[in-house]
Amino acid sequence: MKRVAGAVVGSAVGDALGAPFEFGPAGAFSARFPAPGAGVEMCGGGGWDAGEATDDTQMAVHVAESLLEHGGLDLPDVFTRFQRWAADAPKDIGLQTTDVLTRGLPWDQAATAHYRAGHRAAGNGSLMRATPSAVYFAAHGRQATMDAARRISALTHGDPAAGEGTAIFHDLVRLALSGADPLEELSQTLAAVHPGHRERYAAILAPDWHPGQATEVNGAVWPCLGSAVWALRTTRDYEDAIRAAIDLGGDTDTVAAVTGGLAGAVYGLAAIPARWTEPLHVPLPGGGGRTLRLPHLLDLAHALVERHR
Ligand SMILES: [Mg+2]
Repeated sequence: MKRVAGAVVGSAVGDALGAPFEFGPAGAFSARFPAPGAGVEMCGGGGWDAGEATDDTQMAVHVAESLLEHGGLDLPDVFTRFQRWAADAPKDIGLQTTDVLTRGLPWDQAATAHYRAGHRAAGNGSLMRATPSAVYFAAHGRQATMDAARRISALTHGDPAAGEGTAIFHDLVRLALSGADPLEELSQTLAAVHPGHRERYAAILAPDWHPGQATEVNGAVWPCLGSAVWALRTTRDYEDAIRAAIDLGGDTDTVAAVTGGLAGAVYGLAAIPARWTEPLHVPLPGGGGRTLRLPHLLDLAHALVERHR
């Protein structure tokens, strides 16, 4: 349970901590906060209040609430919740996600139409919201959790590359929740990736890969996942993993949200500093004016695994 709560809260904390540094240069976080706790790291800025989580966590909460209310995956319902959220003026929303959710097409056609129209569709926008579903489906085993990841990803991201990256994340979280070292088991996870996508993911998840080798900005799914795994691999605790992720610059909230989901699952809730969880809050467009705080996220995390007890 500590790992489950660590994953859900860890992702939200990474999102909120990284948000003020989005699109900034590499090293900006360490330059401002040279040592852990040197200053109020949950600082706000760039339109975000201190501790405010962004679209990554908001969409993740909508996925979680759909899974819980429907007792499983109801794709049309998840899509409807996303549309309701998009129509309720979220502060931030990805370009691709906006286009797909506001096309007026049915849930099973919108993302495909976007992709077929030739738009780039391998952004990290489906990976960023995957922690709750990864937690929920972990008990179902590798195949089932990876399939669920692909299907939820495909609601907004028509490029199968985004689905494969999200599927890898699901399986890494599953392994971490079981107490295994997900980095030790990477070859098995990769073996379950669609053959057409395996080589590229194997390259960015390799032990010697560095985010500096990325061929795209980290708003794309491959370097985003690669950077999160790199941040986990090259550090020894949750805090340092998050610092490393934000220090990469670029899409800092999402890279840190993905890193935080993984690192939280590996190190557990106790590894996440209280000075980061206390100011954390998740305003929820499309959620009836609610704002979620730590106790709500912990309840959500518990509920996601209770179903399988
Ligand atoms: Mg965001």
